Amino acid sequence: MGRVVVRRAVTVTRRFLVPSEALEADEVRLPPEESHHAAVVLRLRRGERVVLFDGRGVEALVELTRVEPREVRARVVARSAASARGPTVQVTLAQGIPKGGKMDDVIRMGTEVGVARFVPLLTRRALARPSAARLARWRRIAAEAAKQSRRLTVPEVTDPLPLPALWAGERAGPLLMPWEEERAGIGEVLPRLGPVRAVTVAVGPEGGFAPEEVAEARAHGAVTVSLGPTILRTETAGVVTVAMVLYELSLRRIEER
Ligand code: SAM
Repeated sequence: MGRVVVRRAVTVTRRFLVPSEALEADEVRLPPEESHHAAVVLRLRRGERVVLFDGRGVEALVELTRVEPREVRARVVARSAASARGPTVQVTLAQGIPKGGKMDDVIRMGTEVGVARFVPLLTRRALARPSAARLARWRRIAAEAAKQSRRLTVPEVTDPLPLPALWAGERAGPLLMPWEEERAGIGEVLPRLGPVRAVTVAVGPEGGFAPEEVAEARAHGAVTVSLGPTILRTETAGVVTVAMVLYELSLRRIEER
């Protein structure tokens, strides 16, 4: 009989979202939804270790002390304050609200690549205000995606804003506007912005921005940028732009250190 090779299972530490105040105590009670997920969906057991995080930069390694479908409790083993994990540049993605469920994908993928804040953007060609239920759904998706991609922070999803709000005080950092009529690419445009700690990216909906919107945005300081010779779907364009911006302004510098 051949040798039996015992392979140690690779364990991924599960993550659960709790309110910040809960992480201040040594014993933590998980919120009902997270208790259900831990006890019923994942079937975790007493004694297992998981990570709790507050979505604002604090996380704790805990040991489960009670596992019931309606109540999961845990004892804090170690706490960590906000760490340097994550991009050093805060990117807001102001996304022209697309039709159907495409915004779900934008929020999920944007959270994975590192968006700090999402603004559902009302534009001339995307005028329909999302319902409260849709907004709540996007916020849930952001929390779930942050958990899955082991982010310390959950990106905010703001209430819908009209495009002009981006130059009337609702904007973090310079405004970058992917526009298919522009010829200058990211590599040419970003150095013009100088050193920045935050950038807002505004992407048009399926029908794109109206020419007057682009003209008005430029008059208020927006910088238009090309994403290349092909036209990207709106739900692709925002995520691709954020990935490029973060690579150029944040991740590449970490690699170079
Ligand atoms: N209706 C437009 C057309 O047919 O030319 C395309 C709009 S595109 C589907 C939606 C948004 O994605 C645009 O408003 C723009 O912000 C962005 N976008 C897509 N491809 C782009 C590119 N090659 N360069 C710059 N922006 C792009």
